[in-house]
Amino acid sequence: MPKYLKKSTGSAAGSTAAQESVTSIVKGVISDIRTNGDSAVRTYSEKFDKWSPSFFKLSSSEIEEIIASVPEQTIKDIKEVQSNVRAFAQAQRDSLKDFEVEIRPGVHLGQKNIPINAVGAYIPGGRYPLLASAHMTIVTAKVAGVPNVVACTPPIAGKIPSGTVAAMHFAGADEIFILGGVQAVAAMAVGTEAIRKVDFIAGPGNAYVADAKRQLFGEVGIDLFAGPTEILIVADSEADPFTVATDLVSQAEHGPDTPAVLITTSESVGKKSIDFVNHLLEKSNLSTAELAKTSWDAFGEVVVVDTLDEAWKLADEYASEHVQILTKEPREALSKMKNYGALFLGERTCVSYGDKVIGTNHVLPTRKAAKYTGGLWVGKYLRTVTYQEVSDEKASGELGRLCGRAARAELFEGHARSGDLRASKYLGDKFEW
Ligand code: NAD
Repeated sequence: MPKYLKKSTGSAAGSTAAQESVTSIVKGVISDIRTNGDSAVRTYSEKFDKWSPSFFKLSSSEIEEIIASVPEQTIKDIKEVQSNVRAFAQAQRDSLKDFEVEIRPGVHLGQKNIPINAVGAYIPGGRYPLLASAHMTIVTAKVAGVPNVVACTPPIAGKIPSGTVAAMHFAGADEIFILGGVQAVAAMAVGTEAIRKVDFIAGPGNAYVADAKRQLFGEVGIDLFAGPTEILIVADSEADPFTVATDLVSQAEHGPDTPAVLITTSESVGKKSIDFVNHLLEKSNLSTAELAKTSWDAFGEVVVVDTLDEAWKLADEYASEHVQILTKEPREALSKMKNYGALFLGERTCVSYGDKVIGTNHVLPTRKAAKYTGGLWVGKYLRTVTYQEVSDEKASGELGRLCGRAARAELFEGHARSGDLRASKYLGDKFEW
């Protein structure tokens, strides 16, 4: 039986009351932008972000000027991280082969991967300048071969986030807008005078952004529901509680609603980790301690289980976005666990590496979406389509006979006659309209 040393008391961002209010605000904004275009975009940007410049889109000279203000080391780091992200995305692209197979003599079936034409990349930034989301969202789209990437990011406290703009530019964005939240997502999805309509929207964001994507899905494609971030650590008795605590706090600082969960087979590791978390949040000089504490107090959980098998099972139930394994044999999780956005194996790696630098994609499923999807990757920007050709008359005639019978079993007489026609042309069957 799991024993909870600390249990979540928070009403998760996805809880009914919170979600209903978000849904209703988002619905109103989308509907207004659909009807009133740019003037509505301006109204909401002013309302939610106090941001109403002459143009939301940055010109090339503005981009150059902004980049010139970014420290040289930050530019170098952006390029180094983007090269990691590009290398992994390229390996993913290379693993996707177009192919053609002859499934019976003369019947050729093929599959191709075609990039989406226009993508809207949402780079979140209400609270922090999330440079890394630009790498993840835009670099990956470009490796997939997307020709048009429109990228939006919000201002932070009324200012253009220069590092994020640099990251968007070096990642390969074709157009950059300083525009945030629902107004950005809706404008890209429905199209306005100033913002072109895209076919697909990618990128993480807060509850408003995630809900805008949900409401607009169908009209545009979306990558996945990548909402407020989550961390889950599986630890055994060999784990270092100070490392456990540091890594839990590292994610808790994202926002006030970040679930940070520890499942451990060791009550001592559980108790010591709680003590260290409290110490880090109350007595260290962490600049984001207040936010992380709000999150930890409401959404932090520490659970003690008897065996690692129980830990894997429980962790699979959480289906957390990030799962970090601090056990003697961390690779065991690869065969034992099924539901996660990304796994971090052993103490030498950590979720922060995945978030910021290592090269795998950090846009990952939250709120149990890991039960049905993985995170953002090259394949999300591709349409896997098929084609077929029958190169042999006999093969076509035989398929025609099969099609005639199969279609009539479904009462589709028109379909049946397309088949009958081929059976008549190539095998001499009797056929009349
Ligand atoms: P954001 O860009 O997602 O949201 C900021 C925007 O929210 C603002 O521009 C504003 O227009 C809008 N907004 C704020 N309050 C509003 C209100 N009351 N009504 C309507 N709109 C409102 O930036 P953020 O808020 O800092 O959130 C970023 C989120 O992205 C965090 O929750 C973080 O955990 C998440 N994230 C998730 C992943 C993932 O892969 N799951 C990765 C990175 C970041």
